[in-house]
Amino acid sequence: MNDHFHFQQDRLFVENVALDDIAQRFGTPCYVYSRAALIDGYRQFAEAFKGRDHLICYAVKANSNIAILNQFARLGAGFDIVSGGELQRVLAAGGTADKVVFSGVGKSEAEMRQALEAGILCFNVESPSELDRLNEVAGSMGKIAPISLRVNPDVDAKTHPYISTGLKQNKFGVAYTEAFDLYRKAAAMPHLRITGMDCHIGSQLTETSPFIAAAEKVLALVDRLAASGIVLEHLDLGGGLGICYDDETPPSIAAYAQALLGALSGRTEKLIVEPGRVLVGNAGVLLTRVEYLKHGEEKNFAIVDAAMNDLMRPALYDAYHDIVSVTRKPSPASGRGGEREVQSLIFEVVGPICETGDFLGHARQLGVAAGDVLAVMSAGAYGMSMSSNYNTRPRAAEVMVDGTVAHLIRERETVRQLYAAEKIVA
Ligand SMILES: *Cc1c(COP(=O)(O)O)cnc(C)c1O
Repeated sequence: MNDHFHFQQDRLFVENVALDDIAQRFGTPCYVYSRAALIDGYRQFAEAFKGRDHLICYAVKANSNIAILNQFARLGAGFDIVSGGELQRVLAAGGTADKVVFSGVGKSEAEMRQALEAGILCFNVESPSELDRLNEVAGSMGKIAPISLRVNPDVDAKTHPYISTGLKQNKFGVAYTEAFDLYRKAAAMPHLRITGMDCHIGSQLTETSPFIAAAEKVLALVDRLAASGIVLEHLDLGGGLGICYDDETPPSIAAYAQALLGALSGRTEKLIVEPGRVLVGNAGVLLTRVEYLKHGEEKNFAIVDAAMNDLMRPALYDAYHDIVSVTRKPSPASGRGGEREVQSLIFEVVGPICETGDFLGHARQLGVAAGDVLAVMSAGAYGMSMSSNYNTRPRAAEVMVDGTVAHLIRERETVRQLYAAEKIVA
């Protein structure tokens, strides 16, 4: 719960709109975002880095709805993309290519062409072979590709192994020990222009120390390069700042920025950061309706209409999301008469999908009845963007609330759309 999601009497509101009204109007499952929360998060970043040459490149994969991208573009954000598809989205949303950095280990030739055509700010190159390919592609187009090498600083981000990216054994970036030689090689390639250095060590970090350790290693390398005549214009220190889902205590945006600025004190390179989760995670919830309560021999199940296809994080990372009823009921003990009384029990909150991994929460104390609407909290990042159509389930609607107004920013998919591109063989 934060400023933008709060109870008024017994109803959960996003800004000035009650979530049960949104469920009624747009149906469930439904993602709901607070526009004020998005703006607030971005402004905290901008404020924290004020006075230093910087660019905040929102990591599109955290939530790529064009209404959200447009909001950040209007606030002055750049974007960190990991595919040609994301570049197309950014441009469709009103972002500009000259503020786009392109990360990812598997950029295809077509994606390189697309990005060179658009004129992006920088390619974050992740391997020697990618360097060769980019040089060739740029040459064939008569263009010069601006590049950073994504350096793997071999720092333990102390996060979930699936979202840790800065260790030697990870597939990301070029080895720290090889980066210097690779920069020398890149400097000799005719169709590349070295502009910066990049690192991104993982996601959902809850301490500043790994960021600082990575920054220090990056800076040592930057200085070594400068001594050899390769002077960089920018330092991209990636994203990864965590949020509170349960009882984590991540540093605030201000504290994180302060730590980075401390590590960079006395340096003049432009700073790029690539925040994703921290800008959108707590700005969104997933609304879902209870279809059935089922009392098994060992466990009680609240079977809801959202599933692992809508929100994959619990199934994929065993991630925790708080789950609350959007209307508080009087408990049997409270003695308030008249209203329907609901007993509070421990539930497994599960979806309709045919997988045991299809759960949204384990062992949750809830006072709910069939038909009630639940809010799965902190679902704004890596929720909708990781959703799928498994079990031929149309993807959820998305709504953005602005004060008293709820805007539909993505219609619920129809089943017909799901098989529209398929063909029966004669
Ligand atoms: C995913 C990603 C980010 C954003 O990570 P968050 O944890 O969402 O802040 C930034 N940079 C790169 C290269 C990424 O892959």
